[in-house]
Formats: sequence, C-alpha cells, structure tokens
Amino acid sequence: MTPAENYEKMYRRSIDDREAFWGEQAELIYWHKPFERVLNYDKPPFVRWFEGGLTNICYNAVDRHVAERGDQIAIAWVSTEVNERRNITYRDLYTQVNEMASLLKELGIESGDRVLIYLPMIPEAIVAMMACVRIGAVHSVVFGGFASLALASRIDDASPKLVITADAGMRGGKVTPYKPLLLEGLNAVTVERPKVLVINRGLDSNPCPIAGEIDFATAMGPHRGKIVDPEWVESSHPSYILYTSGTTGRPKGVQRDTGGHMVAMRQSMKYIYNVGPGEVMFAGSDIGWVVGHSYIVYAPLLTGATTILYEGLPIRPDPGIWWSLVAEYRINCLFTSPTAIRLLKKTGADWIHAHDLSSLRTLFLAGEPLDKETHRWVTEALQGVPVVDNYWQTETGWPILTNFAGLGLMENKFGSPSKPAFGYETVLLDEHGVEIGVNTKGSLMVRPPLPPGCMTTVWGDDDRFVKTYFSTAKELLYATFDYAIYDDDGYYFIMGRNDDVINVAGHRLGTREVEEALCTHPAVAEAAAVGIHDELKGQEIEAFVVLMANVAVPSEDELKAVVARQIGAIARPKFMHVVQGLPKTRSGKVIRRAILAIAEGRDPGELPTIEDGKMLEVIRDAVEHRH
Ligand code: ATP
Ligand code: MG
Repeated sequence: MTPAENYEKMYRRSIDDREAFWGEQAELIYWHKPFERVLNYDKPPFVRWFEGGLTNICYNAVDRHVAERGDQIAIAWVSTEVNERRNITYRDLYTQVNEMASLLKELGIESGDRVLIYLPMIPEAIVAMMACVRIGAVHSVVFGGFASLALASRIDDASPKLVITADAGMRGGKVTPYKPLLLEGLNAVTVERPKVLVINRGLDSNPCPIAGEIDFATAMGPHRGKIVDPEWVESSHPSYILYTSGTTGRPKGVQRDTGGHMVAMRQSMKYIYNVGPGEVMFAGSDIGWVVGHSYIVYAPLLTGATTILYEGLPIRPDPGIWWSLVAEYRINCLFTSPTAIRLLKKTGADWIHAHDLSSLRTLFLAGEPLDKETHRWVTEALQGVPVVDNYWQTETGWPILTNFAGLGLMENKFGSPSKPAFGYETVLLDEHGVEIGVNTKGSLMVRPPLPPGCMTTVWGDDDRFVKTYFSTAKELLYATFDYAIYDDDGYYFIMGRNDDVINVAGHRLGTREVEEALCTHPAVAEAAAVGIHDELKGQEIEAFVVLMANVAVPSEDELKAVVARQIGAIARPKFMHVVQGLPKTRSGKVIRRAILAIAEGRDPGELPTIEDGKMLEVIRDAVEHRH
C-alpha cells in the first residue's frame, strides 16, 4: 500500500467506524481500569471519550517509563539566556514530580482544584504541570509574556487556589521580573486571592515582595524523597485549561479532558510526527501556547521520547542555534512556526547548512499560514528533509489538517497542510451555509463528534462553548472560523480567517491570498495585508512587506503589479509599503487588527501580547508617509 492508500483507509475507518478505531488507539496508553464505552455522544455537541476508564496522565508520562528507560533523558533543558543546560532523566523527573506533588498537597491542592502556572521556560514548569495532573489538579499555564491585566482576567476566570511563578524570566539577555506583574494582577482580581509559590532563580536582584509568598526551595525541603500515589481519575476529568491567543477578541478557556487528550497525543506522535520511544523531539515554542503544551510536554513524555526545552530566541547567540541543537542532541523531529522560519529566511540558508542535520527526519510548521515561497525556501534549505505544514487550533490540541510522517508521508504540496487528521470530518460551507465541494472557497467546519483530544467545553461555560463554536450553521457543526478550499486531490489550503476578509467593491478577498501573492516576489520575506475603509469601494487594500537580507529594494509599483498579476486588477493594493518588520504576537501571529487600526487612524487598543512594540511605530510611520 502507498502512504496515500494507507492514509485513506485509516482515515475512512476513523470516521465510519469511530469507536473501533479509537478503541484501538486507546491501547497506546495505560488504563488503571478499562473504559466501558469508547464514545458517549448522548448530549451533542458534548463528547465523552473512553467513558468509565480510570487513568492518570502523570503515571503514563513518567512512572510508566522509569523501569524501561529510567536513565534516558526525558527533558533536555537548554537556556541561551542564562547559559545553562540540564539533562533530566525519566528517573529524575519521577523524583522531582513526586516531590512537587507532595508540596502541592501540603499547600491544600486537591483533585479538581486549579493551579495557575506563570513561569518561564524552565524545567520546573514541566515538573509543575506533571505534579498537577498527578494529583488530579487542573493547571492553567499562562504565557510568561502576558502582563498584569491578562493575568488577572485568567485568574478571575479559573479561580486558582495557587499561582506558581518565578522571580523573573529572560529574553534576549534582558531580565523581565514576573513578580511586579503578578502583584498588579492579583490586586485587580475579584475572586479569592490564591496562594503564591515563587521559584527564585536569582535573576532579579531586587524582587518585589508579595504578601504571604512561599519560597519554593525552602518549602520543598521537607518533601525531598516523598512519593505521592497518582490519583486515578475518570477519563473526562479535566486535565488543564488553556486560553486561546486572543487574536480575535476575549480569550476562551479551552478545557481538555484526561483520557481523550492522552490518546490523541500518543497517536499523533505515532502517525503524524513519527517520533517513537527513545527518540528526540524539539518543539521551538513556549509552554504557554498549545504547541508547547502538546509537543514540548505531553506528547513526547507520554511517548517516552526526549523533549528539548529551549529558553531563548531562535537567532541568539546566532541564527544557527537551533540547527546546532539538532546536530548535538540528534533531534529527529523539529516543530516550529512559519514566523521562526521567515526570520531565518531573512538571515540566509548558510546558518542551516553549517550543521549536521543527518538525524532530522521531518520539520513541522504550524500556527499561521505557511506561504508557498517560504515552504519552498525551507525545503530547499534543508536539502531533502521534508517540511510539513499542519493546521490546528488551541481548541483541538493537535492537527486538524496534516501530512503523516508516520505513514511515510503522502505527496507534499507547497502551501497546503494536506488532508484531515484521523477523526476530523471536515466540511466546507458557503456564505449561505450550504455545503460546497472541490475548488470552492468556504468556511471550514468539522462535523461532530470532535475526535479525542479536542476541547470538551469552555471552562465553566458550556453555553459559550455551544454558542461560540456550534451555532454558525444550520446543522450542528464545529466552526474553525477559517476559510479553506480543497483541490481535486483532496488537499486543503487555508485561506485566512473569517474576519480577515477584504471586500473590495463587492469582491471578497482573503488577506492570505494577497499576502501569498506578494511573497512570490523574490525579494519579499513576509507580507501583511489589511482592508482599510473606503467611501467608494467599501474597502481598499493596504499592504506591508518585509524584505530578505541583501536584496535590491523593489518599487511599490512593482509589488502592486505582482498582486494584480496573480489575483486580478481588483486586488491591486492601493497603498504599498516596505517596512522593517510587522507587529506580531509572541506566538508569532501577525496582529492584523492592530495594523488595520493604525491604517485607519484608530488606536489599536489592548493587544494580547506583542513581540516588539516598536513595530507599531514602524506601521504608523509607513502609513504617515503614504503616497
Ligand atoms: P483566538 O481564537 O483567541 O482569536 P487564535 O485563533 O489566534 O486566537 P490559536 O488557537 O493559537 O489562537 O490559533 C489557531 C489559528 O491559527 C487557526 O484558527 C488559524 O487561523 C491559524 N493557523 C494555525 N495553523 C495554521 C496553518 N498551518 N495554516 C494557516 N493558518 C493556521
Ligand atoms: Mg481561534
């Protein structure tokens, strides 16, 4: 069988015979008590996977590996910020997780209680996550880059009993104290104030005191060597809450279960990422994002693989750092965002070629559109290592659309995240809610029940779950809020978000289409397009491009012509700018709503996170010099 035939067969079965398919996948994990039903879908759209089964994530991710691979590295921590490295074996991890679980119990944390983790990329963050799930507590990791108000709103929403934080994080060599942000956040919360546990890294020489704070090192003393039995929880017991990036508005608290989550993670490693026990995975993301939850922490540990935990920037001390780690740790699978690759594209492929990449089997990219040109560039730069685009969301926790390295990879098409992953019955709807077929752009939906691992509800708000995700079509369908199209071979292409549509004189264009066209110009590294208000046409296109290093600067007319040639005269941008950089979230997404606000002369308002505040000025400056 070819990989494509194999995929087709497995995919069909995952939809037509869901229970048999997922029942088999569930054998990849340990059940303390077997489940009674693979799927309970009595109350659509709510799903309960592996009902009645008792299990524990920490047991599956840590305890289970100690006998067979206790001396294998579980977590290889590399910090180019504090210039430190630490190898933590599965045995070490077992010890540390038990000790921290013991401390959590002393602090009064019980099964079902929430613990907010506000930590930089240090091993203690993973230990804390594991300690929580060991005792049945529900963690909510908040990205270290979030400021006080974002923190306060997440504390209010999840009402944690405990917050675990550090004195400071570091970024690009600069110390960012966490405690003043936390203190300000705590002063703004309306729920009962949680206890605060502080890991002092010695980075902040003058740390701001928080009343009642507990010093981690001191508090851990009596818990050294303690063992805490894992709490066996029912499969649908919540394992964690994670808030979406907030690109489109108020973040939603994505709640994940226990059993379905584990089965999803484990099978994705086998079929999609092709990483097995003893192999090495590096997800260049942050534990505060879903990619970090799934592919820095849960999936590699559940698999018995080694995970690289990297604290630092991808271009510091130099743009070759990640590739040098590939060589050094013999990394088999690398996962990052298109943004990180575009950054490298600007600095050139020599940084990649300088290192031995013979261990690397696949590079995965997700989080935002991977334009054809960047896909082609990185594929060439990697000289034979396949590059797989995969499309997913915080809500799903693992890919919706992907290619399958574990099945030997089907044909890869540039610009396409390939085909639906197991269990996702994808559907495209036109603007009237009518299902459409091949080569027609529509809203991407998933016919429920959603497969294992997907969000089970919005934390504390079942209503919002149904209203937000299942109410846009006549039929009960899960809305991704993205546009897509599929070709004659069934390959999908993501065309941008529902709210990223530009309407020029009645012609609806996706921002992605315009950006994709600009990226075909050989000098362009990345692009952003927005639709600005226009009295006459409804909207006009304003576009911004960032150039590659050492190229001749193309004229604005030349760039506009590229778009007109590729899409049509209607898509020719009214204003075109060459800029130094684009405003992005810390997870690497271009913040188009901020660009649009500036372009329309409005205040961009509060932003989820911003990679570099200077980029707002860059846009402002460009817009002021329009011609
Ligand atoms: P919010 O839902 O709070 O507005 P968000 O959607 O940015 O935030 P995430 O869940 O982190 O938060 O991002 C998922 C979105 O990212 C997808 O819905 C899609 O728009 C985009 N995306 C992710 N992967 C890809 C990809 N491979 N190609 C194109 N777009 C992608
Ligand atoms: Mg979203």
